[in-house]
Amino acid sequence: MTKEKDLYIGCHLSSADGFEAMGKNALSIDANTFAFFTRNPRGGKAKEIDPEDAVKLLGILEENSFGKLVAHAPYTLNPCSKDAKVRNFAHMAMADDMERMEYLPGNYYNFHPGSHVGQGIETGIELICGLLNEILTKEQTTTVLLETMAGKGSEVGGRFEELAKIIEGTSLDEKLGVCLDTCHVSDAGHDIINDLDGVLDEFDTVVGLDRLRALHINDSMNPPGARKDRHAKIGEGHLGTETILKVINHPKLKGLPCILETPHKDLAGYGKEIAMLRKGTEG
Ligand code: FE
Ligand code: FE
Ligand code: ZN
Repeated sequence: MTKEKDLYIGCHLSSADGFEAMGKNALSIDANTFAFFTRNPRGGKAKEIDPEDAVKLLGILEENSFGKLVAHAPYTLNPCSKDAKVRNFAHMAMADDMERMEYLPGNYYNFHPGSHVGQGIETGIELICGLLNEILTKEQTTTVLLETMAGKGSEVGGRFEELAKIIEGTSLDEKLGVCLDTCHVSDAGHDIINDLDGVLDEFDTVVGLDRLRALHINDSMNPPGARKDRHAKIGEGHLGTETILKVINHPKLKGLPCILETPHKDLAGYGKEIAMLRKGTEG
């Protein structure tokens, strides 16, 4: 087994060639965690899982001391849509994903809480809790993560209080955690550029830092509070490399899997970013 690294970092990887291929691709860019879509991010069709392929990936993860993986639900999944058909899709997809995730036991499954589309935040939160209360099971080994959102349009999850309420309204809350997205929190108006400690304190008071299980590491094309949600490469946005390094080096965030969702066109781009951030966490 290789030596465990201080920083768990990776990016979104394509699942087109299966699980083992993702593991190999991760290794090729010095990643020791990664994210992947459980099904087509825009559609919803899920491929059959090949159990042997999953076992091969588990071997790679173990052999190379990977941190936890952070799977991502499809973007089209909106548990608090006005449209019953869309809500039913969210239900079907998430219940199915929970079963599929058990081929890679003990990892994370991140989702966007959704957009309430004019029904109001309270109704939105109720619908999200309704879904979680139906699909989460005591037996599952997956922890479901609520992603902190930019607060664009009628998105739920831009304020920490909203995430806290979802957790409060879910009976199996031990299966829930939070994934903090640096672009989203900044866009939502949390000042991680000048007051990261203050933002983490607020998160701790409102949600509890023990709920924080993963980080999405992105720069933002827009200034704090813009509520736009446009990711930039690290160092090419309003957050800057310095802020990102402060986040990944923060003692309270140490050990959390860091997932890059920066707009690179190929693996090599991510490889460079990973090398740059690993360098920034040495010494
Ligand atoms: Fe996301
Ligand atoms: Fe994200
Ligand atoms: Zn985003």
